[in-house]
Amino acid sequence: MLHRKKIDPRHIAAYIISMLLLIVLLPYVSIKLFPSMIKPQLAAYDGKLPKEVSLYLTKEDRYVSLSFETYIQGVVAAEMPDSFDEEALKAQAVASRTYALGRINAGTQLCDTVHCQAYRSDNIPDKVKKAVKATKEQVLLYDGQLAAHALYFSSSAGPTENSQDVFSGTFPYLVSVDSSYEPGATHKEEKVTLTLDQFAKKMEEAFPKLDFGKISKSTVKIRSRSAGGRVATCRVGKQTVSGADIRSALGLYSARFTLSVKGNRITFTSSGSGHGVGMSQYGADGMAKKGKTYQEILAHYYQGTEVGK
Ligand SMILES: [Zn+2]
Repeated sequence: MLHRKKIDPRHIAAYIISMLLLIVLLPYVSIKLFPSMIKPQLAAYDGKLPKEVSLYLTKEDRYVSLSFETYIQGVVAAEMPDSFDEEALKAQAVASRTYALGRINAGTQLCDTVHCQAYRSDNIPDKVKKAVKATKEQVLLYDGQLAAHALYFSSSAGPTENSQDVFSGTFPYLVSVDSSYEPGATHKEEKVTLTLDQFAKKMEEAFPKLDFGKISKSTVKIRSRSAGGRVATCRVGKQTVSGADIRSALGLYSARFTLSVKGNRITFTSSGSGHGVGMSQYGADGMAKKGKTYQEILAHYYQGTEVGK
């Protein structure tokens, strides 16, 4: 005859507690003791730069091979006016070299447009050649690793942005910093005025999958701003879109904008030019004109980084 054993509730409690320890505590302790188990440690920068790079010339639809430093000269010449201070040009050279290396390491085919970095091969100013030579092989390092996402943009007209507020990735060196000194910066208080119908049409063209409903004075409003003061979210009709989305849909220079609706007309007033993450080029020139070195400029716009080889 089968004998049914009575189960002691204390045994059940002990069993549950040991299971909880096994499921919760053990993984927790392992992660604390061995963080590399969940986060692969990135390799320290090995100082190796490619001698040659392959570059896709978009307009000519062909590839060229050129030395890495020649490529960087062409990028600095295309990306920053040579009227800028030489320390700003040096900062640009280091940022561009770092960013290019990051893309090469990621296996990206370099091209000559802003998709990678703008590049030109003709009439490279001596000032640019000098800035690239003076910073030969120098890159930005964060915690001994390549600061591969050394983004930059034209002018900020106020603080820069945390990377994650504009793009998807979070990087410790791409955080919001002051950039109020930008003498000579273009793109200030630029106005774009549209009728509400024109605005609705542009939004529908940019986002064909979204149903905006009726776009009227009462349904277009800035909802939130990011750390650097650019528009984070905006209500448009029935939808909520990002400031960056409105910027691209309307071709605004910056997501640092205000909007006002009068009658059936909507006006966007924007300041600054570019995405707002990383180094402001006009800000770099401003710092240089105040006597800062390229290392100081880079350490400001890319927090926690240092220039290394
Ligand atoms: Zn590209």
